[in-house]
Amino acid sequence: MKLFDLRGRVALVTGGNGGIGLGMAKGLAAAGAAVMIAGRNSAKNAAAVRALTELGAKASSLEADLTREADCRSMAAETARQLGGLHILVNNAGTNIRKRPEDYTLDDWRTIIDTNLTSAFLASQAAFPEMARAGFGKVINTGSMMSIFGGAVHAAYGASKGGLVQFTKSLAVAWAKQNIQVNAVLPGWIDTDLTKRARREIEGLHERVLARTPAGRWGEPADFAGIAVFLASSASDYVTGAAIPVDGGYSTVG
Ligand code: NDP
Repeated sequence: MKLFDLRGRVALVTGGNGGIGLGMAKGLAAAGAAVMIAGRNSAKNAAAVRALTELGAKASSLEADLTREADCRSMAAETARQLGGLHILVNNAGTNIRKRPEDYTLDDWRTIIDTNLTSAFLASQAAFPEMARAGFGKVINTGSMMSIFGGAVHAAYGASKGGLVQFTKSLAVAWAKQNIQVNAVLPGWIDTDLTKRARREIEGLHERVLARTPAGRWGEPADFAGIAVFLASSASDYVTGAAIPVDGGYSTVG
């Protein structure tokens, strides 16, 4: 369907080498976009590029550590150089360190804020001229249930993900005139490397998530293909500044 057609579009997906990011990247690729993956792990990057190429997409990868300003800033131009433009930026890379607030070191705090929030600011700033030149653009930020809720061991992560939603709204307002739509996706509990660790560290988490999620299951990376295509395509041209839960109903339970 033309509304969801991404042929001729170029996407950059940070943290696109696994989990939710790869689920989004596969959706974008299947809809026709050329996709650049950015992540630290070159073996995971290469495997993701193979998976996207198998879907018939043009795909490439960048080795980038998003706690580094230079890496965040250089991705947009490198994507445009290799793939011929940049129309869709998915700020998805993220990390978590679970500790009570009184136990965080400043280094822990900075690692989380830099990876989850500052990288999105820097990458978006670098993408802006490419999108403005094209006359349109889409920015998709991966938030979290911790964009909405609090948690005893989530002070830093929650600050980064809550901040990302407010950042999303301000970019949406600022860049509307350039025809750039900016939205956030708020995943519920999704089965990825990140939560495999959480399930080991937090006793009873697996069962609690199942009990609270109306859909009755953990989410899968493939659940993010549809929302990515919607928010990256002209189907969402009048949707901006939104934070959309993709959570099997988790956040609607009182
Ligand atoms: P993964 O661990 O599978 O993905 C995290 C991704 O981020 C990886 O691709 C990783 O790449 C990348 N990444 C982390 N740190 C850096 C860094 N410093 N520089 C570059 N890339 C980095 O977990 P998810 O797929 O679950 O997480 C993806 C996003 O979804 C995150 O923002 C997370 O906070 C969010 N999220 C996840 C939820 C879940 O239930 N799974 C719930 C809510 C939000 P590499 O390995 O190469 O470093």
